[in-house]
Amino acid sequence: QQRVTVIGAGLAGSEAAWQLAKRGIQVDLYEMRPVRKTPAHHTDQFAELVCSNSLRANGLQNAVGVLKEEMRTLDSLILKAADTASVPAGGALAVDRHDFAGFVTDTLKNHPNVTVHNEEITAIPDGIVIMATGPLTSPDLSASLKAFTGEDYLYFYDAAAPILDGETIDRDKVYLKSRYDKGEAAYLNCPMTEEEFDLFYDELVKAEVVPLKEFEKEIYFEGCMPFEVLAQRGKKTLLFGPMKPVGLEDPKTGKRPHAVVQLRQDNSAGTLFNLVGFQTHLKWGEQKRILQLIPGLENAEIVRYGVMHRNTFINSPSLLKPTYQARTRDTLFFAGQMTGVEGYVESAASGLLAGINAAKLIAGEDLVVLPRETMLGSMAHYITTTDGKHFQPMNANFGLVPSLEDAPQKMKKQERYERYANRALETIQQYKEI
Ligand code: FAD
Repeated sequence: QQRVTVIGAGLAGSEAAWQLAKRGIQVDLYEMRPVRKTPAHHTDQFAELVCSNSLRANGLQNAVGVLKEEMRTLDSLILKAADTASVPAGGALAVDRHDFAGFVTDTLKNHPNVTVHNEEITAIPDGIVIMATGPLTSPDLSASLKAFTGEDYLYFYDAAAPILDGETIDRDKVYLKSRYDKGEAAYLNCPMTEEEFDLFYDELVKAEVVPLKEFEKEIYFEGCMPFEVLAQRGKKTLLFGPMKPVGLEDPKTGKRPHAVVQLRQDNSAGTLFNLVGFQTHLKWGEQKRILQLIPGLENAEIVRYGVMHRNTFINSPSLLKPTYQARTRDTLFFAGQMTGVEGYVESAASGLLAGINAAKLIAGEDLVVLPRETMLGSMAHYITTTDGKHFQPMNANFGLVPSLEDAPQKMKKQERYERYANRALETIQQYKEI
């Protein structure tokens, strides 16, 4: 029988190895730690949580809570470990990180179908392979990846602007227009008076930022300035930069606002929008506070906060199929943060699907693409169909799932989310035995 090589025993690789092993497939699991270290991991355990010990919300009114429930339905090792090692954390699922990683490591090391190799892989191997080496993929393997993807399709850091749920933008205050009316009207514009801009500016320059880690400082030198750093150079830097109002006169009044924040559609369904030029590493609470000062965004829901950090990831819209296979090589799967999903749970979730699909490939069965009504399916859909030119990694969120067909125009957010959750969990039940 064919074996599968899984590279990286992090959140994604561990889950993928488990899904294969439990289906009777022999797995060679390669993990370079402790032989080679990353700048963020501290132990030699599998599925080490490099930062927070929280796997975020557990409740079903939250997209990542629904994702977890879907993963439990599909017998996820990472969720089993998390539920076993959980510590009290209100509505969140937080874990004792040593117990959590210990559970994953012991389960895989003791599994008769898993052979563990503590070795660094430096080139993409032949055979059936799952690449799951994460945001801190080692340099030699990154070079081999770059040769596979092409120079322009592999990124080493993530400098992302916040992304908003389109249904929470106040459409009475914003208007659709492209600068100088060039091409199709493609942007939502939030106009600001001088007074509104001054208040926004004063709050922005005092806002708190997340300090960059030592190994992340190079990001600034790559020429991608956060907007709060631009703001420190003076009001004009913003007014002549990302908030430039020229060519964006308000169609209702014909007047040019003092400043404009532009929102760009982020997914093909038009349910998500990102803030153009607003890459940021403000603290999350601060992002929320500052964005609410923008007309039209007073009640906007941020589905993915802006970040700036080291992150090796590929341009999945150009390179991957929703089965997590490379478009140009069916035997090569990608999983985890490197596919452009963002977060511990999301990384494990993509590993789960990549593992199931690698098993299906060996069995000669049809590979699985889950419906977009599920969080698992909606994430795979997003990373493989979104606009590749502006690709940013993404958390699980309800902006990714199709809208409710029969919902009234103004439905309470909580009710909408509850219906999304019920629909996802009913759908995933049909895939319990895949
Ligand atoms: P990892 O869990 O990093 O696993 C990849 C594994 O591959 C590692 O064990 C690594 O040693 C190994 N490896 C790398 N190169 C090779 C090679 N050439 N050969 C063999 N093995 C190799 N997400 C959150 O949800 N919450 C957080 O608090 C959070 N904090 C983060 C902090 C930092 C500093 C970083 C970088 C990321 C953070 N993330 C966080 C994002 C992300 O969810 C995690 O990085 C997550 O661990 C990604 O899972 P993964 O399986 O893709 O990669």
